[in-house]
Amino acid sequence: MDTLTSPNPDPIHPATATAALPPAVAESADPPVLPAGPACVACGEPAAVHWQRRPTDEELAEVRQTEEKRRVQALKLADMQQPAPVFPPLPTAGDVLRAVYACAAHAISLDGATLFHLSSCTAPNEADLPGCDCTPESLREAPLEEEVPRVLLPAHWLSAGA
Ligand SMILES: [Zn+2]
Ligand SMILES: [Zn+2]
Repeated sequence: MDTLTSPNPDPIHPATATAALPPAVAESADPPVLPAGPACVACGEPAAVHWQRRPTDEELAEVRQTEEKRRVQALKLADMQQPAPVFPPLPTAGDVLRAVYACAAHAISLDGATLFHLSSCTAPNEADLPGCDCTPESLREAPLEEEVPRVLLPAHWLSAGA
């Protein structure tokens, strides 16, 4: 024989409709922290400088997902009378860059900051400062010095030298 535990009928439980409470005014002790801007990824201080690196696999996946969603949305909104929009291939790691922020104390060298760093770059890392632990890609492909055609000034514009 099982002894069934029956729920005890609530003897006295006045079903008073709780008066709607006024919306709680949030008076947090902390002053609202305004997002002043990007923070140093090493110490959290306000960033003074930044450079760029390639995305990690997760970051790239996120970028591609966002782009895919955007395209699905665009297709939904597209005019049916028109040919469907054609999208370029989804971005690859070569198309995406992530900014890395650092305070003045954790800044890498200016030369280093002009390069694209690898996704695996751990900068700013105090052990490597002011360098980093990757071999960044160079942005400067073609030297610009040779590009400017030099037009000779007329002789009488040149400072009269003898
Ligand atoms: Zn820092
Ligand atoms: Zn690097």
